[in-house]
Amino acid sequence: MTQLNFAPPPPNTESTETLRAKVRAFLDIEMAGMSAHERAASWGGRNPEFSRKMGAQGWIGMTWPKQYGGHERSALERYVVLEEMLAAGAPVGAHWVADRQSAPSILRFGTEAQRQFFVPKVAKGECYFCIGMSEPDSGSDLAATRTRAQAVDGGFKVNGTKIWTSGAHVAHYMILFCRTDSNTEDRHSGVSQFIVDMKTPGIAVRPIYDLSGQHHFNEVVFDDMFLPESALLGKLGDGWKQVTSELSYERSGPDRFLSTFTLLLEGFQMLGRTVDDRSAIVLGRIIAHLMTLRRMSRSIAGMLQRGEDPAVQAAVVKELGTSLEQDMVEALRLIVDVEPDGGSDNPYVAVLAHTILHAPSFSLRGGTREILRGIIARGLGLR
Ligand SMILES: Cc1cc2nc3c(=O)[nH]c(=O)nc-3n(C[C@H](O)[C@H](O)[C@H](O)COP(=O)(O)OP(=O)(O)OC[C@H]3O[C@@H](n4cnc5c(N)ncnc54)[C@H](O)[C@@H]3O)c2cc1C
Repeated sequence: MTQLNFAPPPPNTESTETLRAKVRAFLDIEMAGMSAHERAASWGGRNPEFSRKMGAQGWIGMTWPKQYGGHERSALERYVVLEEMLAAGAPVGAHWVADRQSAPSILRFGTEAQRQFFVPKVAKGECYFCIGMSEPDSGSDLAATRTRAQAVDGGFKVNGTKIWTSGAHVAHYMILFCRTDSNTEDRHSGVSQFIVDMKTPGIAVRPIYDLSGQHHFNEVVFDDMFLPESALLGKLGDGWKQVTSELSYERSGPDRFLSTFTLLLEGFQMLGRTVDDRSAIVLGRIIAHLMTLRRMSRSIAGMLQRGEDPAVQAAVVKELGTSLEQDMVEALRLIVDVEPDGGSDNPYVAVLAHTILHAPSFSLRGGTREILRGIIARGLGLR
């Protein structure tokens, strides 16, 4: 069996802890008065004004080159900002995808013109992206994508349907993954990525309401949408390599184990300073798991900074992280005896209701449990 290595994460330094204090002071002001229910939305909560303020602080695109509006800070400094934002339940959702994966993909695979056009706007917190990967018949099996971009004079004509596209109704751009060549034997070739302006004629965005009744994701239909050649991201036919590298960014961050952190904090408030032995064991176990995941996720941040490919490690963090997020809800329900109620004035009761309705999706979004376990097994040489 192959061994899977997580290098020791870089330690905190004086500069990371100064930054942490600055972020906390910012959050104290910006989040004053925000309800527990709003904080429970975690990185699903959108607030463009908040995103612009983060951009002004230099907390988006932190590791990117200064020439593209970035700040050339370390992966660890970026990590500090992310974990403080998530721990506080800050409404970072508007810029989250663009900062986490779209702009890094553009920096890595895009043309100079694309880098100069998109990346500084993302760093300012003014430009939001959505992810156009899943389709009605191709979610886990991404290579089965049927949306097709056909080469025409001056560009491509796109037809097909994407589904579950988070934020497509509010994003400025989508990174679209689709087939550009149907005549290949290898299903992982002949696919490409494009940067799509969501205002392009030929796009219809239709809402899908989730379990809680909220409009968060969408169906996106392309009907003879024309894309100029300049919309191609990376090399024609290289989409598989690009999309798998993007997924490492998508799966390894603290957003994969801190989505339910507000519930944990409110649970502590509810239990008060003295807890019985059983509750102490449950809470201690959750905290121990969180701290371990944090070390693993910080280790991956270091790998990404060194240009390594942590796809398998990222799958481990996402799988363990989302399992913990889901288990946490059940564990807390065993030790805090209340009925969930989204309309309650009691913050814990309201956050519990929110979390119960959202937690089932955590092990679907960004790759399902079974798919991640398959990636891990392959990485370990077990299949
Ligand atoms: C909240 C949320 C937000 C999302 N946002 C986006 C987004 O912004 N952009 C986007 O592109 N997608 C998004 N998705 C879609 C998500 O990536 C897919 O739902 C996911 O990849 C699974 O695809 P599917 O729904 O088609 O299920 P399927 O692929 O049909 O899978 C159904 C079940 O079969 C299992 N299964 C499938 N294949 C295998 C296999 N080979 N071995 C074992 N088991 C298997 C799966 O694990 C799953 O349990 C989002 C989903 C959610 C829940």
